[in-house]
Amino acid sequence: MSDPNPPLCLVEPPPPRGKPPRHWADLTAAERLEAMAEAGLPAFRAKQIAAHYGHHLSGQPETWTDLSLEHRRQVARLFPDLLHKLEDRQCDGGATVKSLYRLFDGELVETVLMRYGLTEELTVGPRGLRSTLCVSSQAGCGMACPFCATGGLGLKRNLSPAEIVEQVRQAARLLADGGLPGGPGRLHNVVFMGMGEPLANYRAVLAAVRLITAAPPAGFGLSARGLTISTCGLVPAIGRLAQEGLPVTLAVSLHAPDDETRDRLVPVNRRWPVAQLLDAAWDYARVTGRRVSIEYALMRDLNDQVARADHLADLLQGRGHWGWFHVNLIPLNRVPGSPWTASRRRDQEAFRRRLEGRGVPVTVRDSRGQEIDGACGQLAAAWSQPVADSTAGSVDLSAAPAPRPTV
Ligand code: SAH
Repeated sequence: MSDPNPPLCLVEPPPPRGKPPRHWADLTAAERLEAMAEAGLPAFRAKQIAAHYGHHLSGQPETWTDLSLEHRRQVARLFPDLLHKLEDRQCDGGATVKSLYRLFDGELVETVLMRYGLTEELTVGPRGLRSTLCVSSQAGCGMACPFCATGGLGLKRNLSPAEIVEQVRQAARLLADGGLPGGPGRLHNVVFMGMGEPLANYRAVLAAVRLITAAPPAGFGLSARGLTISTCGLVPAIGRLAQEGLPVTLAVSLHAPDDETRDRLVPVNRRWPVAQLLDAAWDYARVTGRRVSIEYALMRDLNDQVARADHLADLLQGRGHWGWFHVNLIPLNRVPGSPWTASRRRDQEAFRRRLEGRGVPVTVRDSRGQEIDGACGQLAAAWSQPVADSTAGSVDLSAAPAPRPTV
């Protein structure tokens, strides 16, 4: 008989595949100089190239006319086309753009770019325009959360640093070119809440974060405070991240305060249960001084009872009261074919009010992009496989199958 709770081998190694071609954004400063020497270019060309890429957000050496034709040809080898755009879907009057990209080996990843501060008349709101990009860190995901569209795809492979950085560059370029309503602007925030578990692709994610936050021309000059790394709860990697000296925001996808429910929703909980995860989050806040974001997707009759709001408040405040956390309630995005359903409006409100009443800082996340398959992994899932008929309705816990972890 098969073991219903097989031992979890987390941080699942991706299947062996060809590596993405080497890109400028994969290279350290020293490696960039080496690449110049290999191409027979003087070292100062590295600065010129960096300015095109980091400052002007251009990835097309053929347009860099301050280099000779021969040099442009040489340099082009360092700028392979890593992300081939298949589709852009827009909603919210164009202020939300979801992009689907094909990688060199045919795998698919998504980004969602959201511009805030536009009023209905598309004029600038009082706080000015802010733009946030949601990026993917893996093709697919091995964490198998059953309510998540990416979870159903399984892990295809880790992205390289440049495949992550290129998502940011392309979005920043789109904004700079005035591709979104409100006119030309810049990117302020990057959240690792697209496809994949960023802490299971730690090295590449950190390399990408360092480049995104490096001052131009070496990088794109985004503030590390504007970056958020979201995890389903890889506890040792949270500890490691706390030691990096980077003031990035940590988001913890908690979704339930009790292990019984969380074991079902986030299978990695069987390896690192709620108490360990919240201890790691609390340590992260203490070490970095950054407030941790606690993500909680509300699912009808499953995790949305006020008793669970109380339990959550107890767990968070039991570790400290100095404002080390903020709770983000997420109305569940419907994933076609999935039995998981968003909470009723009144239950969502009751949950939020109970947290507020307990003094817990809480917001209900604005769910952008619903009508363009806004949920994590949905667009790629729609392209990769036919989706089963929807089975809308509330989830009967006794009938719902336990998630089968592949991690
Ligand atoms: N693996 C990381 C980041 C990717 S998912 C993590 O788990 O945090 C980003 C966020 O979207 C997570 O909080 C995840 O639980 C949530 N999410 C996934 N599917 C969703 C859905 N259908 N509706 C709402 N939120 C969802």
